[in-house]
Amino acid sequence: MRAMVLEKPGTPLELREVEPPKAGPLEVVVDMAACGVCRTDLHVVDGDLVDPKLPLILGHEIVGRVSALGEGVTGLHHGMRVGISWLGHTCGHCRYCNLGAENLCDAPLFTGYTRDGGYAEACAADAAYVFPLPEGPSDAELAPLLCAGLIGHRSLRMCGDAERLGIYGFGAAAHIVAQVARYQGRRVFAFTRPGDEAAQKFAEQLGASWAGGSDQLPPEALDAAIIFAPVGSLVPLALRATRKGGIVVCGGIHMSDVPSFPYADLWGERQIRSVANLTRQDGEEFLSLVGPAGVKTEVQTFPLEQANVALDRLRDGQLLGAAVLVN
Ligand SMILES: [Zn+2]
Ligand SMILES: [Zn+2]
Repeated sequence: MRAMVLEKPGTPLELREVEPPKAGPLEVVVDMAACGVCRTDLHVVDGDLVDPKLPLILGHEIVGRVSALGEGVTGLHHGMRVGISWLGHTCGHCRYCNLGAENLCDAPLFTGYTRDGGYAEACAADAAYVFPLPEGPSDAELAPLLCAGLIGHRSLRMCGDAERLGIYGFGAAAHIVAQVARYQGRRVFAFTRPGDEAAQKFAEQLGASWAGGSDQLPPEALDAAIIFAPVGSLVPLALRATRKGGIVVCGGIHMSDVPSFPYADLWGERQIRSVANLTRQDGEEFLSLVGPAGVKTEVQTFPLEQANVALDRLRDGQLLGAAVLVN
């Protein structure tokens, strides 16, 4: 099968003919129809995330059809449309798994990082971590929901009942979260790269009450802010935009260093927290919300072979919405 393969961080992906995956016990093989391009993929390619499996097939926003079932698989069948996300496997017995926090498992596998993912014609996955998907939306439209949507939703959940919600970095995750937040009756304040009028207009089209540069203060103090941009200097800016008792949620897996800032900006019971990975429960909850909330994704599709082009556009901030590879 064809696959886009990472041989070494810091080098472009290479189109290769590789052995197709087989379904081991409790695994399925999924024929890839669409695979989203996530900022995390960029962090793996650029070497920000260390120790990937090498050579590696990236991609953890996979939509496709089950084409093979391994021994012992239940609940999935041949031809079923399913999604594969970032959390590919957990140990099931560490203290975090026992606490119901499988997103923090001590011995996890991550799709497209420590096991092969979806930048290929097919992908094998642990059947317990595969989500059945509704029929209706196209494969490409569903793909970004599997990470941008899921981790975005987990980040939104950490904001509690915040009514005035700031979102820093208005890309794939933000454009999904903004729609869910509006559905929940929250007001969205969108922060983009300073001067990025296209992104600000995009945010307003998605129902943001206000859109401006990340160097600006919002017209009202925020109850909570989510930072999706991988830029540590946004943390003090977001704290300054947030009211007493408010929370700043860092939704990305990697960020540049957070600069020092006056303690007074944290004082007043403000909180900073990160969000790591997702649980299967997050996935089920979010996917059940997509229909009622009327979530629509804005996607730009690229043929599988053009994965490097899609990654470059994401790196350069040239995408509105999400990039998706299609077969
Ligand atoms: Zn575990
Ligand atoms: Zn992702």
